[in-house]
Amino acid sequence: MKFLINGEFIDKSDHYDVINPYNGEIVDTVPIAYRSDVDNAVEAANNAKKALNDLSAKEVSINLYNACEELEKESKNIAKLIVAEAGKPYKQAIGELQRSVETLQFAAEEAKRIYGESVPIDATGPTEARFLAFTKKVPLGVVGAITPFNYPVNLALHKIAPAIAAKNTVVMKPSMEAPLSALRLAEIINNHFPNGVINSVTGYGSEVGDAMVVSTGIDKISFTGSVATGLFISSRAGMKKLTMELGGNDPLVILEDADIEKAVNAAVSGAFLFSGQVCIGVKRLILDNKIAEEFIDLFVKEVSKLRMGNPMDESTDIGPVINESSALNIETSVNRAIEDGAELLLGGNRKDCFFEPTILDNVTMDMDIVASETFGPIAPIIRVDGLDEAIKEANNTQYGLQAGVFTESIHNALRCANEIEAGSVLINKESTFRTDAMPFGGFKSSGMGKEGIKYAVEDMCKTKLIAFNCR
Ligand code: NAD
Repeated sequence: MKFLINGEFIDKSDHYDVINPYNGEIVDTVPIAYRSDVDNAVEAANNAKKALNDLSAKEVSINLYNACEELEKESKNIAKLIVAEAGKPYKQAIGELQRSVETLQFAAEEAKRIYGESVPIDATGPTEARFLAFTKKVPLGVVGAITPFNYPVNLALHKIAPAIAAKNTVVMKPSMEAPLSALRLAEIINNHFPNGVINSVTGYGSEVGDAMVVSTGIDKISFTGSVATGLFISSRAGMKKLTMELGGNDPLVILEDADIEKAVNAAVSGAFLFSGQVCIGVKRLILDNKIAEEFIDLFVKEVSKLRMGNPMDESTDIGPVINESSALNIETSVNRAIEDGAELLLGGNRKDCFFEPTILDNVTMDMDIVASETFGPIAPIIRVDGLDEAIKEANNTQYGLQAGVFTESIHNALRCANEIEAGSVLINKESTFRTDAMPFGGFKSSGMGKEGIKYAVEDMCKTKLIAFNCR
C-alpha cells in the first residue's frame, strides 16, 4: 500500500513489511517516508486550507456523512485488514469498525454546531457599553495525527474527524505495526474532500513522527500512544497545541458489597479484550479480602473458557499480541512477579506471539507488572482490606486514565467517584467502557486534553474575539 499526499498515492524506494502476528506472513509492504515527504504533506495540507474553509459547515457535514457511508460499506474488508496486521480477533475488529462509523457520524453532526458567544464587554464599566463583542471559533490550521496500533481506525478517526469538522486539514501518521487499515481510511476520507485535506505518511516514529512534531507548518499534534513517546513529543513540540492520550493502568475495584457475578463478567471482558492491549483495559484487580476467594473461584472458571486461536475465526476471544518482542516482555514481567511472590492461578505460558490469559494473585504495587503498564492478557490481583485501602491502591500509580468500581452501596460508590484520580470513574462497569461521544482523556501521566467528538472539536479550534465600537 502507498501513502497519500495531495490526493496522490506516493511510493518510495525503501519499504517495510507489515507482518501478521498470527502466522508471521507478510500482509503487505509500506513505503518508508523521509522528512522531506512530511514537508510535502505539510505543504499540501496548508495549501488545502482555503478549499476546506470555502466549504460551508453544511457541506463539510454532508461530505463527512458521505465518507461515513463509504466506510460502512467497506467495514468488513477493513476489519479483515486489522485482523491481519494487528492480530485483533475479527469480532473485536468489526466492533471497532462499527464504532468508527459512529465516530464519523458524530463529527458530521458536530460540524454544524460550532458556536462562539456574545461577550458582555461592558462588565468593566460604562465606557465599554458602546461595544458589541462576540467570539468566533476558527480552525487551528493543520492538525498532525499520530496514532498507535491497537485501534488503528477508530483512534485515527478521533483525530481526523473532529479536525475536519472544525475545518482543519490533516497530516496523519499511523503506527508502523498497523498502517494498512489507517491508509485505507485516509483514502476513503480523501474521496469526499478536496485534495490535501487529508494526507498520510508512513515510516519510523523517530523520523516521520518527529518531523511532524517539529514542523512549523503544523499547528497541533494530537497524539495517542505510550507515556514515553508522549513525553518525548511534548519536549519537542514547541508552541504547538497538544492533545495527549497516553497509557493507562486502570484498576477494577471490587468491594465487599459487590455483585460478584457481574464483577467477574466485567473483569473477564475488561482484562482480556484484545489480549489486554487496550489503554483502558483492566490492568489491576483490587479485591476486598472478604470476597476474594468467592470472586477468584468464579473468575478462574470464566477465564478458562476464553478461546485462544486464529483471530480471523469469529469464535476466537484471544489472538496473538502485536509482535514477539511484546510477548517476550509480557513473559518477563509475569516471571518476575512470580519470583517476587505473586501466585500464578492460571496461564503464564508463551508460544511465539501468543500469551495465555493469565491470572496472578497476591500482587503488590511494587512489582513491575503493575508498577508500569503491561500490554498483555494479564489479570493481576491486589488484595486489600476495606474501602480506604482500595482507594489508596487505586491511586497508587502514576497513571489515571479510567477506573471501574463494583459496589452495591451508594456511599462507597460516591467515595470512589470523588476520590479515585482518573479521567472517568465508572460505577458497576469495567474501565474498558468508552462511547465515542463522551469526554475521554486521562489524569496524571495518562495525558492531557479530551477526545470524544464535541470535546475534540473544541480543542481543534482557536477563539477569536471580534469587537465593534458602535458609537
Ligand atoms: P507508541 O507510543 O509506541 O507509538 C504510538 C505512535 O507514535 C506510533 O505511530 C509511533 O510510530 C509514533 N512515534 C514513535 N516515536 C515517535 C517520535 N519520536 N515522535 C513522534 N511519533 C513517534 O504506542 P503503541 O505501542 O503503538 O501503542 C500502545 C500505547 O498506546 C499504550 O501505552 C496504550 O496505553 C496507548 N494508548 C492510549 C490510548 C488513549 O486513548 N489514552 C488509546 C490507545 C493506546
